[in-house]
Amino acid sequence: MTQRRADQLAREGFNAIPRYSSGADVEIDLSDNTNAWGTPPAARSVLRAAAGTGAARYPDLYGESLKRTVADRAGISPACVVTGNGSDDVLDCAIRAFAAPGDTIAHPDPTFVMLPVFSRINNIRPVPVPLTADYAMDADALLATGARIIYLCSPNNPTGTATPADVIRKVIAHAPGLVIVDEAYAEFAGVPGLLSEAPSLERVLVCRTFSKAYGLAGLRVGYGTATPAIIETIERSRGPYKLNIFAERAAVAAMTDDAGWVVERAAEAVANRVRLSDALSAMGLSALPSATNFLLVPTPKTVVLAARLRANGIGIRAFQNLPGLGDAMRITAGPWPVMERVLSVIADGLEGS
Ligand code: PMP
Repeated sequence: MTQRRADQLAREGFNAIPRYSSGADVEIDLSDNTNAWGTPPAARSVLRAAAGTGAARYPDLYGESLKRTVADRAGISPACVVTGNGSDDVLDCAIRAFAAPGDTIAHPDPTFVMLPVFSRINNIRPVPVPLTADYAMDADALLATGARIIYLCSPNNPTGTATPADVIRKVIAHAPGLVIVDEAYAEFAGVPGLLSEAPSLERVLVCRTFSKAYGLAGLRVGYGTATPAIIETIERSRGPYKLNIFAERAAVAAMTDDAGWVVERAAEAVANRVRLSDALSAMGLSALPSATNFLLVPTPKTVVLAARLRANGIGIRAFQNLPGLGDAMRITAGPWPVMERVLSVIADGLEGS
């Protein structure tokens, strides 16, 4: 039997899938929309108290205590909740469970950069569908793809824009297969989203995360809600033990004891995002309307300004050639003194250019 060449061991085409790169390693990281105020207090004390205890045993198979906590808050049954190693994991598991290699997944473009990557990892073809002129998702165009899975993200990353509920409901009403509604930024949006409703909709998975408003990105915790049948299918794809015991305990604390802290910090992020947008606008930079804790600011000066911010210890996400938008800076909203630093570097950068 002939042996495969070492560079042909991976599945055909697999090595063309990019590895993720992030802009970290700066004093102030505003590049990934995590909680710029940090981890909430009860979750922090859970982690301190937990240090060293319990690590010799496996965690719960599917994260029952977190399922119960999410279910309580959402007013649904724990059988309607799936947990994962970040919502990345929930998305990845759902994609491979609900579409077969060679099937398609339709998604708005631009959207969460990992979505097409998870699709390709699972040998499922991503079909990008441009946003509408007002940066909403295009229900008719998404439906016209006939894709096995339709992915929606509202509010959307990286645009920050929300899609009206009636547009999302139209996709759900007519989709041939599973509809994934990614609500990673729902806590900033000021509208309830579909988390509680998903179990009563036949073909919908709503995904949320502890990485943004809840301040636990480093622990990797995400969850989804859907009918028990959809949840069970995703859990088959997920496998056991995805949520480590410390992450599960901290997430439960963040969603219960820290609930007030989370709401207050989210409100502060939204208020500072509005102030930041106004201040940028006074400098001639106009951000897209946002329903999140970040702003997308299209400008041909993106690369120059991002380099200048970086030289000043501040990381933002610099996008190049976003469809329909060109180059754009994505900036996480944080405490106001930090926003003032950002504004002052940008003001200098604009003056110097
Ligand atoms: N969905 C969206 C829209 C996101 O922006 C992100 C994180 N950038 C995720 C999902 C993944 O989040 P998590 O940290 O829970 O894997």
